Amino acid sequence: LPWCRSLPKIELHAHLNGSVRSSTLLELAIRLGEKGLINFPEVEAIILKGDRSLAECFKLFDLIHLLTTDHNIITRITKEVIEDFASENVIYLELRTTPKLNPLAGMTKRSYVEAVLAGLKAVETVEVISNTSEIQQNGLVMTRPKESIHVRLLLSIDRRESTEAAMETVQLALDMQKFGIVGIDLSGNPRVGEWKTFMPALKLAREQGLPITLHCGEVPNTSEVQNMLAFQPERIGHACCLEEPEWAALLQSSIPVEVCLTSNVRTETVPFLRDHHFVSLYKSRHPSILCTDDSGIFATDISREYALAAVCFGLTKAELLSMARNALRHIFCGDEVKAELEDKFKAMATVID
Ligand code: 5GP
Repeated sequence: LPWCRSLPKIELHAHLNGSVRSSTLLELAIRLGEKGLINFPEVEAIILKGDRSLAECFKLFDLIHLLTTDHNIITRITKEVIEDFASENVIYLELRTTPKLNPLAGMTKRSYVEAVLAGLKAVETVEVISNTSEIQQNGLVMTRPKESIHVRLLLSIDRRESTEAAMETVQLALDMQKFGIVGIDLSGNPRVGEWKTFMPALKLAREQGLPITLHCGEVPNTSEVQNMLAFQPERIGHACCLEEPEWAALLQSSIPVEVCLTSNVRTETVPFLRDHHFVSLYKSRHPSILCTDDSGIFATDISREYALAAVCFGLTKAELLSMARNALRHIFCGDEVKAELEDKFKAMATVID
């Protein structure tokens, strides 16, 4: 694990509200409990529960969203989540979050995203680089101090949302690209919502050149998986429950898969780690990226995910380094950033033992 921690890493599938520290959630729950707005012992038991099914996870997300409703809290959790990823030596983070309306807290989707962006600025332990203009100076790539993390945002469409709400999120992402919004994610309870509801928004994103990643095949749903693969998103997440023809289609495509080992086993979308489809992806040399998904609720971190791949599937240090380095090819960010990060991997490659 210490070696995996020292490895520079790229995190491409992390949900903001799923990555909140349990200690922060408990602190926020105590506050709401004191105000009589929630029953603290009940909430504490839910937060501290170990394994939970996919359905229970979505109940927990609703609870977390109750705890993280105002702008200051959104800013705080963003700051903490970035600090946590940086402490695991993540050098590039694409953090995804669903912009939320909360009229009671005076929150619009835009002000929600602004609160997230304020969280990037509030980070103290590491330098946060959040848009391209910060890297380029007079056309030269600046040399960075060792401790820095590039952070970009993906805006998520929740599968509970209407076509109009999804369009609003894409429009917001387009309007806020200059602040480091680099793509769109489709997530939320896979048993809710229909592909055709989100198509207009995803098409708009595509037409405007905004890359897309889709949560795909978390539960069996052949026609949706077919539609998703036919859409050719820039990446997909999970791909757990694909039937043979769709699996073959995925392998034939070059669509990279964001692999979330602990999350898939904890939510029982994959029964045992040893049976995880990562093995098949890896053997087929299909582009795949190790990611955390929800490090807070699954009590994991990205170094642990790499260590799991080493222990369970026998990946060597050189192979783990290649995995981390190859992830660079699939980031939704420009070539200048890739070049800067590639240097960090080159330096690591020379000291690998
Ligand atoms: P947020 O977008 O509020 O920052 O992060 C939490 C949200 O991300 C959840 O409410 C859910 O919509 C989405 N999410 C987090 N983890 C998962 C997952 O494993 N699968 C799916 N489909 N959605 C998820």
